[in-house]
Formats: sequence, C-alpha cells, structure tokens
Amino acid sequence: MRIGVLGAGQLGRMLALAGYPLAKDFVFYDMSGSPSVGLGETIVDRNGEYLDDFLSRVDRVTYEFEHLPVAIAESLARHKPVHPCPRALQVCQNRIAEKTLFGQLGIPTPEWKPADSAEALKAAAQALGCPVVAKSVTEGYDGKGQAVLKSPEDAEQAWASIGHSQVIVEKFVNFSREVSIIAVRSEDGDVAFYPIAENAHHEGILRYSIAPAPGLRPDVQKEAEQCIKALLNELDYVGVLTLELFETPQGLVANEMAPRVHNSGHWTIEGAMTSQFENHIRAVSGHPLGSVEARGLSCMINIIGEHGDIERILELPYAHVHLYKKGERPGRKLGHVNVLADSYEELVWRVRNCVQFLPGSPEFTSSLTAKG
Ligand code: AMP
Repeated sequence: MRIGVLGAGQLGRMLALAGYPLAKDFVFYDMSGSPSVGLGETIVDRNGEYLDDFLSRVDRVTYEFEHLPVAIAESLARHKPVHPCPRALQVCQNRIAEKTLFGQLGIPTPEWKPADSAEALKAAAQALGCPVVAKSVTEGYDGKGQAVLKSPEDAEQAWASIGHSQVIVEKFVNFSREVSIIAVRSEDGDVAFYPIAENAHHEGILRYSIAPAPGLRPDVQKEAEQCIKALLNELDYVGVLTLELFETPQGLVANEMAPRVHNSGHWTIEGAMTSQFENHIRAVSGHPLGSVEARGLSCMINIIGEHGDIERILELPYAHVHLYKKGERPGRKLGHVNVLADSYEELVWRVRNCVQFLPGSPEFTSSLTAKG
C-alpha cells in the first residue's frame, strides 16, 4: 500500500520510519521549500500543479501538518480516502470553530469571546475579567499571534501587535501544568488512549514531555479520555488525534487539538508498545490498532536550534536519539532524545545527564523537579 503524506517534515519522516516494517511505501507532497523527510518520493509543488500526479501514485492520503488548505483535502477526498477527515482540519484551523465544538461536546474550555476590533477586544477583556489571552482566530501556532492583556487598557496595543481581523479572547487559566492526551481511532471505530503526558514549554516551544505525567490521577486520565473520545466520534475520525489541555485544581480545561501525530507523543517511539506513528499508519491503512501501553517512564527532550554534543548522548545507554536531518537555526526543532527509566527519580537523573550536552536546552523543570 502506498500512503500519500501531505507535508514533508520530521513528522512525515517518523511516519515513514514506522510504516516501513508494515510494508508501506510513501509519497510526500509539500507546498513549501525544504523537505527534510528523505524517506520516499517527494513532490514539491509551490503552485498546486502536481496534485493529480500525487493522487495517481497513492492509495490513501494523510497529512502531517494542519495549515493545509481545507479545499485541497476535500478535493483529494473525492478520489481517495483521506484520513483524518477534512472537517478535522477545518475545525482546528479556526479557534472559534474549535472552541465552539468543544463546548457542544461538553469539553471544558476557558471562558471566551470573539472580538473583531480593538474596542471589541477591550469590551471582551472587561466582560471576562483580566488577565485574558487574545489569539488570532486563524493562522496561530506555538504562541504566535497572541497577547496577554493584564488590563482592558492594553487592548489597543494587543490588537496592533496581533495584526489580525478577528481574535478570540480567553480568560487566562491559572494552570498547575500543561498536559496532552493522544488517542487513535481505527476505521472500525476502535479507540485507544495513550497515558497523558506533562509538557514543558519555553519561549512558546515544547521542550520536554514526560509520560505518564507524574502524579497522574486515574480520574484525570479518564476525564481526558472522555473529552478526546467525544471529538473522535463526532468527527468520525480515523488516525491519531492530540488534545492539549491545562490541568487545574478544578479539573482539566481544553486548549486546542491537533489532527495529527504530535511532538508531545514522540516519547511513544521507545516508550510505548506501539508508537503514535505506527498506530497512525495502522489506522489510516485500515489495520487493527496496536497496544498503547507505556513501557515504563519516558521523557522526550527536544533538540532545538543547535545539535549540541550528540556523540556524548549516544554514549548514554538509556538515551535514544532521533535526528531530523535539518540545519541548525534558532528555535528550530532538529531532533529529540527519548530517555526511559523505571522510576521518576532515575528519569530526572538521566534527563539531567543528557541535557548537559544540549546547550540550547533550558533548565529541566516539571512537576517532578518543582517539588524539589
Ligand atoms: P496555543 O497557541 O493556544 O497553544 O497557546 C500557546 C501557549 O500559551 C500555551 O501552551 C499556554 O502556555 C499559553 N496559553 C494559551 N492559552 C492560554 C490561556 N487561556 N490561559 C493561560 N495560558 C494560555
């Protein structure tokens, strides 16, 4: 079976690496410049001229990034199965559509209001009570196109800095930590959930994910599973879906979803019985799902901006290095290291050992280290 992947970055690369043992072939389609995938035929098509060519070479289509025109996914879906469905793309490309769907499905969100002018932003900030976070409704990712308003008086400046015609204004959530749940749904409607991961960001970029999240209560895992299951079933979704959440003393609050394999699930490559990448390939190919059980405790460390001393990390018996064949550039994801351990104490010690060879990494902080 030939799987067509829209996008040719590191996620496509890891999908292919997981698909080869299942005898899948891959064709990648990218609308921008520099594919890093290096593991299959790659069509770079800046003007949308080669879509028919791409379609003729594949049996099924999936995607590895969500900023893809929905119309392209819809037109492909008229000819070949496209998983996940184009509606999933449509929802996650618009923060208002996304939060509206969450609300309809009973998934808790921060209180929010739309605003289409500086005055409306000020009024929304007043009504919700500051602090609030204003985010562009479309085209936002990794904290871009966002501003925190400490007072309604900040509205003018925030509106100008975001520079979009419509924003969503959300009540600021005082979360204890950021977490995510990754789930997979098969063509037959079977669903499996990975354990929740705890995610640490720095300058808007994910740095560490620990899974299962330290101190994870079974009822919190269940709550997250119910939220993501509602989305999977509503969208008749096939493949891997990620839901990013805030954990608060009052329970979980949903932030956003990603209709694809996710950086906070890279730990599953060595840390779970079946990786998120293999399970995505299984689902989109119509196979049964693999076990999502964790093999002990994992931490994923992103390699950002510069590679650091990879040779030294390769000497560590518990570190698994994954490189994306990308050139160094500030803020760019170049690879990741998965560290496994049998206790959280051992995990912290091992992560610290790795991080000393990664000069771009901020201090390792998590709910583990915060306790001292
Ligand atoms: P997003 O682009 O929506 O994922 O937001 C980027 C980051 O901004 C998140 O990872 C959070 O750290 C922070 N953030 C977003 N929305 C809120 C909110 N309503 N309350 C507090 N922090 C937020």
